[in-house]
Amino acid sequence: MAENKYDKYFLRDSPWKEFKFIMGPIIQRMDSKTIQGSNFYFIHWVIPHEKPRMKIGHPPHIHSEAELLIHIGTDPNNPDDLGAEVELYMGPELERHVITETTVVFIPPNFVHAPWNPLKTTRPWIFIEINQGLQHTEKFYPQLLTREHRDKLDWKFWHDDVMSAGYPNMVKPESWKFEGER
Ligand SMILES: [Zn+2]
Repeated sequence: MAENKYDKYFLRDSPWKEFKFIMGPIIQRMDSKTIQGSNFYFIHWVIPHEKPRMKIGHPPHIHSEAELLIHIGTDPNNPDDLGAEVELYMGPELERHVITETTVVFIPPNFVHAPWNPLKTTRPWIFIEINQGLQHTEKFYPQLLTREHRDKLDWKFWHDDVMSAGYPNMVKPESWKFEGER
């Protein structure tokens, strides 16, 4: 029972805390259904691992709204050090980046990004994903991956979420040649 009028705004008892997540403990996963007016947030720890936790990573996708991918290191003596190597591909060209420092990545609306995959973690760090919409939107682009990589992924797990009404689709680059099926 809430004791105070505004206790509902202090989100400590997330049911997601019980969820066994591949990366580490979940702090919160919430949107406007959790609390009216909230955008989508997914906040979790990444605990140490020597090998990539996912085979290919979270596959390429877009969102209707802008997204922030916030990677926060936890060494108070060196807060810029992430204590991890995180692979992130950007754009339909799959430009590869490896994040090793505390970093905020801005993803514009309808901009294709990922795979995202923590390759190695030597010190626990915190990941915060912010989708700047009242619910999570996602459309996958499996055709950007090789057939070999596509076949390694469970496409029942990596399913599209409803996009916002009237969203413009990804702008395809001139050299676009990926029209393959899943
Ligand atoms: Zn994303």
